[in-house]
Amino acid sequence: MDKHSKKILNDALFELQTEIELLDNPSGHLLKILEKVKSSIASVFFFADDGDVVDIRTDLKCPHCESLVYDNRAKKRDPNDSYYKTKKPDFACSNYEPEDCSGGQWNPDKTVYWSASWWQTSGNIPKEWNI
Ligand SMILES: [Zn+2]
Repeated sequence: MDKHSKKILNDALFELQTEIELLDNPSGHLLKILEKVKSSIASVFFFADDGDVVDIRTDLKCPHCESLVYDNRAKKRDPNDSYYKTKKPDFACSNYEPEDCSGGQWNPDKTVYWSASWWQTSGNIPKEWNI
């Protein structure tokens, strides 16, 4: 699906939501179905603040351990998911074992090991990811 098609899809979903909300008796069921569609789309792409379409990356490897890195950028934009929005990094290594991945760190009382993580604002995104 090209960027133009994604934009059309996003606009259509917005229009659909508006129409549902304008009904005399808005259907909660229809809105729930719409939310499911939006969540599915969020696992594939999202819109940046400048309106640009950004594809979710599934090819990122941790520079410390070569494990898959999760791209959380779309989930963090989900208005229904305050946990991701406030707590999760933009990118996180999927390997939570301190003996396997040296990129993470222990929390202050050394009870939880946080996997390697990256924030777009921190400027430490590995260059080889081309983000
Ligand atoms: Zn790692």
